[in-house]
Amino acid sequence: MAELSLQHIDKIYDNNVQAVFDFNLDVKDGELIVLVGPSGCGKSTTLRMVAGLEDISNGHLLLDGKDITQTPAKDRDMAMVFQSYALYGHMTIYENMAFSLTLRKEDPNVIHKKVLAAAEILGLTSQLNKKPAQLSGGQRQRVAMGRSIVRNPKVFLFDEPLSNLDAKLRGATRREILLLHKRLQATMLYVTHDQTEALTLADRIVCMSMGHVQQVGTPLELYDSPNNVFVASFIGLPPMNFYDVKVVGKELQGNGLKVALSDEEQAVLAGYQGKEITLGVRPENFTEGTEFKVTVTNNENLGMNTLVYGTGEGNVKVTAKLKGWKNYKVGETAGFNIVRKHFFDKETTNAIRGDK
Ligand code: ADP
Repeated sequence: MAELSLQHIDKIYDNNVQAVFDFNLDVKDGELIVLVGPSGCGKSTTLRMVAGLEDISNGHLLLDGKDITQTPAKDRDMAMVFQSYALYGHMTIYENMAFSLTLRKEDPNVIHKKVLAAAEILGLTSQLNKKPAQLSGGQRQRVAMGRSIVRNPKVFLFDEPLSNLDAKLRGATRREILLLHKRLQATMLYVTHDQTEALTLADRIVCMSMGHVQQVGTPLELYDSPNNVFVASFIGLPPMNFYDVKVVGKELQGNGLKVALSDEEQAVLAGYQGKEITLGVRPENFTEGTEFKVTVTNNENLGMNTLVYGTGEGNVKVTAKLKGWKNYKVGETAGFNIVRKHFFDKETTNAIRGDK
């Protein structure tokens, strides 16, 4: 069992920089939580506070109900996997994986069993006698994970573990981490700036900006119902398009945009009649149509999809992800309909969800 509870946690560094503000999260046993956000938003600081590598300025950290806010890192029963694998170059893979157990003076027979079991899980059995330099980046990252697994910690902490790998290996290693999580059923906290990693790995995502949690939810919740413009723009690739529009009767109007609202959408926007709002449209929520006309600036064929970039009235930009292979010419007029809309309050930038 390993349940973590982060309660009203702040981090104020010695130079008075506040990196984390009132962080609250209950992590269930066996859950994989991904902290995601742009560089500098406080993800690593949060992870390092959980690990015990940074003091917690205010608030409490509980592991299985026990307050460990003041517990030293080495007594927290957590293992951290870093971006730099930090393997010992002169030791074999076996020795690297066994190192922490050897330090603890565990029984060599027990160490042997644990290292072999971890190597088996990670597909490293045939690599155990090699030195780190003989392994690929992806294999080295697996050794780093193996070092954590042999310790059988209550909580695994990952700090951007895939950042040093090239795109292909990143994808493969990401899938390995997911399998590892399924296999170990361990509680994991994973930090990344990459929204794809967050969407593909997480049971729940914590999206952060400037030290503040913006939203906690499943990948689908963050994708489908983002709390505010920040989350809407950060989750999803290519990012959501945003437009300044006015609610006029049963329509949204703005720079060349004239979009009819369904009854349900009108109900959601009931309090915004005659007011300006921000309309959000995911690129994949455009289809070819007539509601919104733009001049094409680029056509990118991705195989299954085509990204069409355009500029509308008032220099409004559009990125549309259309199904199939399209051949729009630069300068040509393209028309789109919008199949799914997101509405945001212009002042607060919060999602408008009506009374729901
Ligand atoms: P992220 O992991 O999201 O990139 P960090 O947690 O590393 O962000 O940093 C959050 C903020 O805290 C940043 O503004 C960063 O400059 C600041 N910060 C990080 N470490 C320190 C430190 N040791 N001393 C002072 N400020 C720091």
